[in-house]
Amino acid sequence: MSVEYSDHLKLRGSVALVSFGNTIEFFKTNTRDSTKVAINYEGMEELLLRFTGDRNLREICDSHKDIERETLKNFCGFLNSKNILINSDASYLPTVEKRFGRLIGLIEDYLPRKSLVIEALANLSTSKVMIVGMGAVGTWVAEGLARAGVKNFQLVDDDIVEPSNLHRQNFSNYQVAKKKASVTKERLLTLGAENVEIFDTKIDYDFFSENPPGADLIINCADFPNVDITTDIVARYCMANGIPHIVGGGYNLHLTLVGQTIIPGLTACAKCFEIHMQAQNQDDIFGVKKLNRRNRKIGSFGPLTSLSASITTIDSIKVLIGAYEDLTNNNTRIEFRLNEMDFQREPIPKNLQCPWCGKDGIFSRNL
Ligand SMILES: [Zn+2]
Repeated sequence: MSVEYSDHLKLRGSVALVSFGNTIEFFKTNTRDSTKVAINYEGMEELLLRFTGDRNLREICDSHKDIERETLKNFCGFLNSKNILINSDASYLPTVEKRFGRLIGLIEDYLPRKSLVIEALANLSTSKVMIVGMGAVGTWVAEGLARAGVKNFQLVDDDIVEPSNLHRQNFSNYQVAKKKASVTKERLLTLGAENVEIFDTKIDYDFFSENPPGADLIINCADFPNVDITTDIVARYCMANGIPHIVGGGYNLHLTLVGQTIIPGLTACAKCFEIHMQAQNQDDIFGVKKLNRRNRKIGSFGPLTSLSASITTIDSIKVLIGAYEDLTNNNTRIEFRLNEMDFQREPIPKNLQCPWCGKDGIFSRNL
């Protein structure tokens, strides 16, 4: 990536400088990325601190005539490509900076110029996100996205808040017996959301044809009649229409399953996951007699639900700002095991024979 002499470059606030000998380490505190560069110039640390975005590169070159201009320009281009120096080609509105300063500090780590950060923030505020299921995962995802600046939501749920929900869902005592979607709408409006549409229903295979959502991202957090069916409904619609979607998160006993992020055409799809898991379960249960017990009551640690939701929300933000290369929940099954206090990641690559997204898949022509 090249920079121009007229560019105003700024050393990102999140970058720490550590020098030892003739090496400088640039440590990005947000992403924990480190870049080490060997430099034979004694005043380099002092020079780097002059990149505050207030003066352009030409002015900085003029004040350091002991370095060859072109060398410094190339070095700055390198640091810009590593997201260490950001191009201050635009200014944040003070009101935006006041509210989203910490989010800006994070997004800057992913983008080379401020104008792109402003575009990313605009994408968050103009995107529409549909969340299916206002339960233990959906209510926390909605909360996290509204806090991140998402203003347009579509909430799908026809349930009411029950006392047993309060242990793990984002509701309060006084909201018991009210509709979950309406209560969540009220909550989102207090956090900055502006347009919250409610679909007072459960999804079935007719839902999307009757209610075309026009959403930029659809997140499935519904488990009625079961998560496999709701995932199938959401994923089929999204694959046919090229819509990014997140499916399959949940919790069970001490396990938390993080939902998979799917970008049609780029990542493994829900069917790739299903095929992989079927083959694995086949191996696991071979020769084991299945014990049936009706009406099992499965316990859950409430906070595990918001753990799954938080990780889903992080990938949702990345989807909405277009940071596809930085997604973490795609092509992977991620389980958090509380007893071991450990995330287990199992790679599930795109299946070339997949009947949905594979070479002859039914949705491949759309992708
Ligand atoms: Zn697939």
